[in-house]
Amino acid sequence: MSNYRIHGATGDWEVVIGLEVHAQVTSKAKLFSGASTEFGAEPNAQVSLVDAAMPGMLPVPNAECVRQAVRTGMAIEAEINKWSRFDRKNYFYADLPQGYQISQLYHPIVGEGKLLIEADEKAGIPHDKIIGIERIHIEQDAGKLMHDQHPTMSYVDLNRVGVALMEIVSRPDMTSPAEAGAYVRKLRAILRYVGSCDGNMEEGSMRADVNVSVRKVGDPELGTRTETKNVNSVRFVMAAIEHEARRQVDVLEDGGTIVQETRLFDPGTGTTRSMRSKEDAHDYRYFPDPDLLPLELDDQFLADCRASLPELPDAKRKRYIEELGLSEYNARELTADVEVFARFETLLAATARGIGKPENEVATQVANWSLSVAPGVMKALGDEANPAHATAEAQAAILDMQAKGEISGGQAKEIYEIVLKTGRDPAEVADTEGLKQQSDSGAIEAAVDAVLAANADKVEQYRGGKEALFGFFVGQTMKAMQGKANPGVVNSVLKAKLG
Ligand code: ADP
Ligand code: MG
Repeated sequence: MSNYRIHGATGDWEVVIGLEVHAQVTSKAKLFSGASTEFGAEPNAQVSLVDAAMPGMLPVPNAECVRQAVRTGMAIEAEINKWSRFDRKNYFYADLPQGYQISQLYHPIVGEGKLLIEADEKAGIPHDKIIGIERIHIEQDAGKLMHDQHPTMSYVDLNRVGVALMEIVSRPDMTSPAEAGAYVRKLRAILRYVGSCDGNMEEGSMRADVNVSVRKVGDPELGTRTETKNVNSVRFVMAAIEHEARRQVDVLEDGGTIVQETRLFDPGTGTTRSMRSKEDAHDYRYFPDPDLLPLELDDQFLADCRASLPELPDAKRKRYIEELGLSEYNARELTADVEVFARFETLLAATARGIGKPENEVATQVANWSLSVAPGVMKALGDEANPAHATAEAQAAILDMQAKGEISGGQAKEIYEIVLKTGRDPAEVADTEGLKQQSDSGAIEAAVDAVLAANADKVEQYRGGKEALFGFFVGQTMKAMQGKANPGVVNSVLKAKLG
């Protein structure tokens, strides 16, 4: 349970949130036509006769879209319905040539599932929490009206008409903006792992309808909800909830009532405003689409879908902790997105190979490098860094030199800086730029001897029991060697000489 509360004049309120996420299915063609789904085409360049609803055109289901929805359902451990059916949701709008959207109201393809959001103290999520998912159904997207192209006319772009969407409907299980944000991020991660949606919220591949209600703390009844449509970033989802919950509390405390309605989020002001009062299902005259047979999935199809699933975020995170010995924080960060873990796993493999040790023995070093050192260097360089030089081979070579004690952590950063700017070979940079630690024990022994001779009084005190002086000797030796001595070797030489 989150502790998120809205403080009102009459006491504390809690917030209840359910999300309906629309995710564009990754597929070359649309749900019922062969037109392309590629983003960024000229308006109306990707509209087939089916999409334009020409008389006599018939929809043909795209098996790939069905497969992606099933794989997504499996990834949230949901029931897969072997029998599902398409329904028409009838309404008139200029962005919908058919006059109805083909969707699945009564028999969705995916039933009850769940999603884990992980404890994240900093984000305000004190405990792991399971969020229920009621269903996933597949449906068609609509087109886009453009009101800013002409002074007196509106234009319509039908490229998106008929593109396959998955609608992923959560239970009203979230109780704070932070939980809703974590839910969207986790769902996005799962979709990207599975490859069923690219999760690109800026391009509209994923958007959320945000249902919010409030109730007095301890009230067993759910309050009346509003639904804020088409929110297209995690930050906006959180802002919309915050604003909407506060607004509802103010209305209720002023003696008003919440009407169930559809609202719009304005990213400019961070506020929501009323769009229309909630239409009921009967207004849409839903009925089974007579042009389409029910979808029937056989066992082989389901088995193939299951076999094609990759290791999913929770399993990967667990494996990183248990088998690679990573901290929970590192494991969570590294598994948060496909690109992040892919880069990490490539670098881990290259580093382990280079050093000649099993992956679990170098994983923490590689994780810290990947999450903090490397991004830090990259950020500090800004435009001077050429990301193309950030290859796994170059980074593995640096980690290799560091693991062998040839370079220090500081030198690793300096070398990486030069590599990012120039693309030079890390070992060559270390050699020619003098970025190497002295590990030669002869040179170190000579330096230690000089330090001990110059500080005979302190050596006496040390031998008399003042062990804190050890750090002083290390410091003096490092200084004598211009900071380039391998601290491990310095330590062991000093220990040996001091007895
Ligand atoms: P509809 O069929 O009218 O869209 P649903 O029952 O399918 O309504 O719910 C839609 C979404 O609203 C779901 O994500 C659900 O979790 C959420 N929801 C339902 N009731 C509430 C409530 N009282 N407060 C917040 N969210 C709610
Ligand atoms: Mg709904």
